[in-house]
Amino acid sequence: MEFLQPPTWREALEARAAHPDALPIWGGTDVMVELNFARKRPEALLDLTRVDELSRCSADDGWLKIGAGVSYTRVIDELGGELPGLAMASRTVGSPQIRNRGTIGGNLGSASPAGDALPPLFAGGAEIELASARGSRRVAIDDFVTGPKRNALGADELIAAVWMPRAAGPQQFAKVGTRNAMVIAVCSFALDLGTGRTCIGSAGPTPLRAHDAEAFLAELDALDEGAATRFGELVASAASPIDDVRGTAAYRRHALAVLAKRTLTWAWKDRSL
Ligand SMILES: Cc1cc2nc3c(=O)[nH]c(=O)nc-3n(C[C@H](O)[C@H](O)[C@H](O)COP(=O)(O)OP(=O)(O)OC[C@H]3O[C@@H](n4cnc5c(N)ncnc54)[C@H](O)[C@@H]3O)c2cc1C
Repeated sequence: MEFLQPPTWREALEARAAHPDALPIWGGTDVMVELNFARKRPEALLDLTRVDELSRCSADDGWLKIGAGVSYTRVIDELGGELPGLAMASRTVGSPQIRNRGTIGGNLGSASPAGDALPPLFAGGAEIELASARGSRRVAIDDFVTGPKRNALGADELIAAVWMPRAAGPQQFAKVGTRNAMVIAVCSFALDLGTGRTCIGSAGPTPLRAHDAEAFLAELDALDEGAATRFGELVASAASPIDDVRGTAAYRRHALAVLAKRTLTWAWKDRSL
């Protein structure tokens, strides 16, 4: 297997154009599993870890730019104040070793419905910057994930960065797993009271916005037990779960109603502080 290791972003984009079948790799926490189980056998790997730009974070006009190679550990350490929802989700990923290696760009590249970074990116209204030797474009996260483990990345494109509006209100994320750590989500839920957006993880073919719950939220003046329960019901009804080894569809719907009710209650309390 050929191993390409471009030292600059320009050379990385040229290598991508010249070797569209090369598999990009950063932390390798998904790629190496695929290779070890022989689920993928690419002719070449395109290692991006020498490209400095990809591990930078910066701010621009109310937006935060997170390079595709920024690890979960760095999101927790550096962005917890500005993007609390993404930091909460990052804390639930794998183990310290996986959080040190694994990246937001890798989670987007894999586009798994269970990817924990995705719900807060949907709830926060993220845009994904894709680049090729031809130029770059920004795609709304809702349009980036096109199906289970599928995304809008062109054959000659790489993920450059994620752009997130700075949190304008309380953000929450909660996840249910079969144990507390090193676990793929049975289901998860992200809520952003600044954008008024929500997202369900691991209970559908892709991360799913709960549009009826968002409309309910937009009309909500005061939160009481009944309103929180109704919000939970609307979130659960937006899910499209299946029965699998991690849980049944019925359990996932029930758990989502509970997660949604809890996260709304926490976020509402934060809003009134
Ligand atoms: C033990 C273990 C526990 C885990 N726990 C969790 C968990 O709790 N939650 C969770 O969400 N995930 C978990 N994962 C999965 C994985 O850690 C995450 O998906 C992580 O974000 C992948 O990042 P990476 O940098 O390692 O990606 P890589 O494995 O390097 O790449 C992943 C995919 O993205 C593509 N890619 C990477 N960078 C780019 C780029 N710049 N441009 C274009 N394509 C790119 C690759 O080609 C590949 O398809 C776990 C994995 C392991 C092995």
